[in-house]
Amino acid sequence: QVDPKHFQPLGSWSTEDIKDAVSSHVMCTWSPGKAKNSLPIITHANHIYLYDSDGKEYMDWTSQAVCTNAGHSLSPRVTTAIHEQMNNLHFVYGGIAMTEIRARLSSLISELLPGDLVGCLFPSSGSEANEAAIAMARRFTGRPKILSFYRSYHGGTKNSLSATGDYRRHFQQDSSGFVKAFNFTPSFFEHAGEDEAERVQSALLMLEEQIISEGAETIASIVLESIPGSAGVLTMPHAYMQGVRAICDKYSILLHIDEVMCGFGRTGEMWGFQNYPGVLPDIVTSAKGLSASVAPISFVAINEKMMEFFEENPVGWGSTFQGHPVAMAAAYAILTEVLTSNLIGHVKSVAPIFEEHMRHCAEVHPSILNYRSIGLYGALDIATPDGRQPHATHEARTTATTRYFDSFRENGLLGLFRAPIIHIAPPLIINEEEIQEGFARQHRALDVLDEELGF
Ligand code: PMP
Repeated sequence: QVDPKHFQPLGSWSTEDIKDAVSSHVMCTWSPGKAKNSLPIITHANHIYLYDSDGKEYMDWTSQAVCTNAGHSLSPRVTTAIHEQMNNLHFVYGGIAMTEIRARLSSLISELLPGDLVGCLFPSSGSEANEAAIAMARRFTGRPKILSFYRSYHGGTKNSLSATGDYRRHFQQDSSGFVKAFNFTPSFFEHAGEDEAERVQSALLMLEEQIISEGAETIASIVLESIPGSAGVLTMPHAYMQGVRAICDKYSILLHIDEVMCGFGRTGEMWGFQNYPGVLPDIVTSAKGLSASVAPISFVAINEKMMEFFEENPVGWGSTFQGHPVAMAAAYAILTEVLTSNLIGHVKSVAPIFEEHMRHCAEVHPSILNYRSIGLYGALDIATPDGRQPHATHEARTTATTRYFDSFRENGLLGLFRAPIIHIAPPLIINEEEIQEGFARQHRALDVLDEELGF
């Protein structure tokens, strides 16, 4: 017998009813489950603000999981497009039927991608996009191994998790067929030379040595985020990315760039890899910003040669909801709006102001060791005892960082926090005054961190 409360309209449960159900029935995954009981219950949102059941306002300071790029107020054009798709045709299975929206979204994304990237597949999440892309790279090349980097996040499914770097430590899973390389981080390669060119050269030699040692003919693809996000916005020198592309060309290895977090304007370019002019991937995956989180959808795009191969051969990977018409309609409407409103131009114009605030945080708060910032994509490193760049694991929460995070929320910010890295990535529609206001709140929380860490 189902509780009659379930037949009441949404919005009619009391906060106590909600809290009781959360406590007994809801699970969280990235923290011990009981953490759920201290999460705010968000009732509604507007622009870049969210409101909880006590009426408290929060600024969306990391675009949730770096995905609500267009904020929280959808234009009537977007909601109408979604309603129309729902009313006309909410679902057909992509393996047995084609739709106009699938044709249109595929061609739009192909137009937005440089080079010869064409074929598009639309799974439901970034993990699945990477899962499919890894399967395709192996099938296309006939090679078994995937090379990725320690400071990375590629997803939670079998292959995307196996490609993931230090986050994977929490899972005792078999990841044979995956090889990990060290990222180019200046602090790690600081022994390699005075100037950046020498350090880049050293990192590339090490990468090539590793590939030769593994057997270059066994490596299907190199998978990397153009700017590793969860690992802390680790921009790389242009020469390093050019070098990785050259190694791929030399050994006929596919370059798979994971644009799940950076894609669709986060860095002030449509694609994160466009910050490295001339470096073109063979495979691109993206998600999050594709629909700005209005619906769960991701994409995989591949180059023409791979496309020709898969015209004759199956990918051998699929999911029921790939190419979901309603999700594709949401993505298409959001994307056309991003383009017509020149949202990426806006990101470029506010990026220097954002970076100035990031720099200021690192300058005035002794608890902050360093900052990195590009577009509306920033990270602050909490000072480590040995002064080295911290790893983004979520094991490092201490009393000090817990108090900091309480203050962060008390001061009206809602966002991801995985000590020892503080992510700042507001919705791309944020304006200059709102950036100022967000950082004023951020400073108040960092004052608490300074004090807690004894500075
Ligand atoms: N790749 C990157 C770079 C990501 O940041 C993420 C998610 N944070 C993923 C893949 C996985 O995407 P999803 O959570 O949608 O499966």
